[in-house]
Amino acid sequence: MDCLFCKIIKGEIPSSKVYEDDAVFAFRDIEPQAPVHILIIPKEHIASANDLNDENSAIVGHIFSVAAKIAKSEGIAEGGYRIVNNCGADGGQTVGHLHFHMLGGRSLAWQTG
Ligand code: 5GP
Ligand code: ZN
Repeated sequence: MDCLFCKIIKGEIPSSKVYEDDAVFAFRDIEPQAPVHILIIPKEHIASANDLNDENSAIVGHIFSVAAKIAKSEGIAEGGYRIVNNCGADGGQTVGHLHFHMLGGRSLAWQTG
């Protein structure tokens, strides 16, 4: 399957890896919107939040638990951060592999654009 993030997981496309385990991969966004901008993704190819179901959605809990670990290692746990999922065209999703943006290291405005 021709998926950018599957290729990143396999190492076919280089990335700046932050964390990896059996189920999850995390790496720095190539176009950071904040001092810390990390993408946390399941290793299983799930196209978007629309494709979550009772069988595969436990990964989302695991992703948030990984995010809490990363927040500590990146030094943003105390200051705080935002975790965002863009779903589909109206949500602004541009890569068709479920991913959660973790943004921190500065005060973030609350706005939708
Ligand atoms: P989306 O817009 O789908 O929510 O987020 C996709 C994100 O992937 C964007 O923030 C974009 O900068 C990032 N991105 C796209 N291509 C690459 C890449 O090749 N490497 C990395 N590290 N990030 C990428
Ligand atoms: Zn994929």
